[in-house]
Amino acid sequence: MYLDSILLGGKKLKFPTFFPDGTRAVVRSLDSQDLKSAKVEGIIVNTYHLSKLPGDEFLHRIGGVKKFMNWDGFVISDSGGFQIMSLIHKTGKGKVLEEGVLFDDELFTPEKSIEIQFNLNVDVIIVLDYFTDPKASRDEAEVSVKITVEWAKRCKEEYLKQLEKRKILTSERPLLLAVIQGGFYKDLREKCARQLLKVGFDGYGFGGWPVNEKGNFDFELMRFNASLTPDDKVRFALGVGKPENIVEGVKAGYHIFDCVLPTRDARHRRLYVFKKDWRKILEEGRHDFYEYLYPIREEFARYKGPIEKTCDCYTCQNYSLSYLRHLFKIEDTLVYRLASIHNLRFYTRLIEKLRSKF
Ligand SMILES: [Zn+2]
Repeated sequence: MYLDSILLGGKKLKFPTFFPDGTRAVVRSLDSQDLKSAKVEGIIVNTYHLSKLPGDEFLHRIGGVKKFMNWDGFVISDSGGFQIMSLIHKTGKGKVLEEGVLFDDELFTPEKSIEIQFNLNVDVIIVLDYFTDPKASRDEAEVSVKITVEWAKRCKEEYLKQLEKRKILTSERPLLLAVIQGGFYKDLREKCARQLLKVGFDGYGFGGWPVNEKGNFDFELMRFNASLTPDDKVRFALGVGKPENIVEGVKAGYHIFDCVLPTRDARHRRLYVFKKDWRKILEEGRHDFYEYLYPIREEFARYKGPIEKTCDCYTCQNYSLSYLRHLFKIEDTLVYRLASIHNLRFYTRLIEKLRSKF
């Protein structure tokens, strides 16, 4: 049975759903009205970055990140762990300890992550986890699972404390999601899921980066990970992804997806369009229901039509492909906005098509 919606703060969030990344309280080059016009229902922000700028205590004082952005949709905050670990990886400054993540002489603990996320006043909070590197040895993966479970327990305790301290009603509480790690070691994922289920969360994420040695997305692992959690709990496919990966994810039982691709591709002159026979979307192994369109191509220089004739987005309703090509040519930043609106609407239309099938 596919869970087709949940109530968040009295508002209904339908599944499946796609949340673009608004890491620093902005989906790059778009404002909240643009997001609404592209039918985006929620965004995901980054706890670590927002705690630095503009600061989570400031955000708490003004009523949270939604108020700050003038956004009345949903917001998920990620734990911030992945960003700090990437920074450690890049700079070599810091390490993961049992107590928390040490970076730049600062200890980022599970408790700290939860407190910041409460300050952001979001709808869904994610526990601090220890990402299993796709190249991790079995020993390393075991350590990441052990720490992930320990941190998840501490996050749950802190979450309950914060609810009490802030006098948040049950009907108003943000959801708390845990993340299943274990890399490509299925028995470790199973162990991780079992222990997290014992602690009890509102939902469970598919952690790690499931791209195998050949560079292919591991659909089988994604399905296996989904099978480890009950159908009445939210399943979050973190960082997924490409349109075909979302389709496979929905088939596997996932509810929430997030990815930088549609907006990043828009800025890099890559647009998404459905093929005429997109209906084969749910046929086994058919991932050719869409294609890329590169507006910079010479053939579009005199083209009067929109990016996609059947698209109802603000950009397609108002501007021609030749105008977009021109803006890319002269490198005017307006094109980032117009191209991002179209790509996001492609993703929200994909979600609508999937909802009608499930
Ligand atoms: Zn469009």
